[in-house]
Amino acid sequence: MGEVQLRAVAKRFGAQTVVHPMDLDVADGEFLVLVGPSGCGKSTTLRMIAGLEEVSGGEIRIAGRTVTDLEPKDRNIAMVFQNYALYPHMTVRENMGFGLQVARMPRAEIDRRVEEAAAILDLTPLLARRPAQLSGGQRQRVAMGRAMVRRPAVFLFDEPLSNLDAKLRNQVRTEIKKLHQALRTTIVYVTHDQVEAMTLADRVVVMRDGRIEQVGAPMEVYRHPANLFVGGFIGAPA
Ligand code: ADP
Ligand code: MG
Repeated sequence: MGEVQLRAVAKRFGAQTVVHPMDLDVADGEFLVLVGPSGCGKSTTLRMIAGLEEVSGGEIRIAGRTVTDLEPKDRNIAMVFQNYALYPHMTVRENMGFGLQVARMPRAEIDRRVEEAAAILDLTPLLARRPAQLSGGQRQRVAMGRAMVRRPAVFLFDEPLSNLDAKLRNQVRTEIKKLHQALRTTIVYVTHDQVEAMTLADRVVVMRDGRIEQVGAPMEVYRHPANLFVGGFIGAPA
């Protein structure tokens, strides 16, 4: 079960509060998108869920366990960033399986998981290639595959499309949607792009200045914005 709960989770950097005490519930299997303008605290919130940033207060639960003080590796999450460094000397297969190999998983099980992820992400014909022989979109899919093979309860994405051109962005966005439909896994996804948020999300969380302005299904937020900020932000052309 991959539910995520934030209770009064806050973040201060020095005197600046960048995330005000925040409550949030992500259901098991839900695709939740945090959306809002640059600097509103989306990445900081995601990094606190991942354990890459300590909370200044509050509690985080993942899959029924309090993880507030646990290392990222013990949180049952996998994070996909916009900068998806792959090992240049390794093949796609080796890149995807490397983390499992380090964890001493048997070869046959690694191969099984890599091949399953490759099938979902349309990477099967590319397993023997090296990163230099891949397009940007293909590399981003390998980075997703590397996260998938670990079978985390929760996937965390921070602007995974922002380094891709418009065509690739559509392609990778479709792959992310497919991944969610295939695995029915919980996803918390950060973007400043309204269109991305509206097309991917089961529910969107609209943030401004470290606070949640509104949470709801995309069409609900679009039709009934809670205030002028949300109306302007969601209604504005991308
Ligand atoms: P977003 O992802 O929505 O663009 P961030 O979470 O990256 O926003 O940043 C929120 C605010 O916190 C910004 O004002 C940013 O400058 C500040 N901030 C982020 N990381 C740090 C840090 N390590 N030290 C100080 N301030 C930071
Ligand atoms: Mg950010």
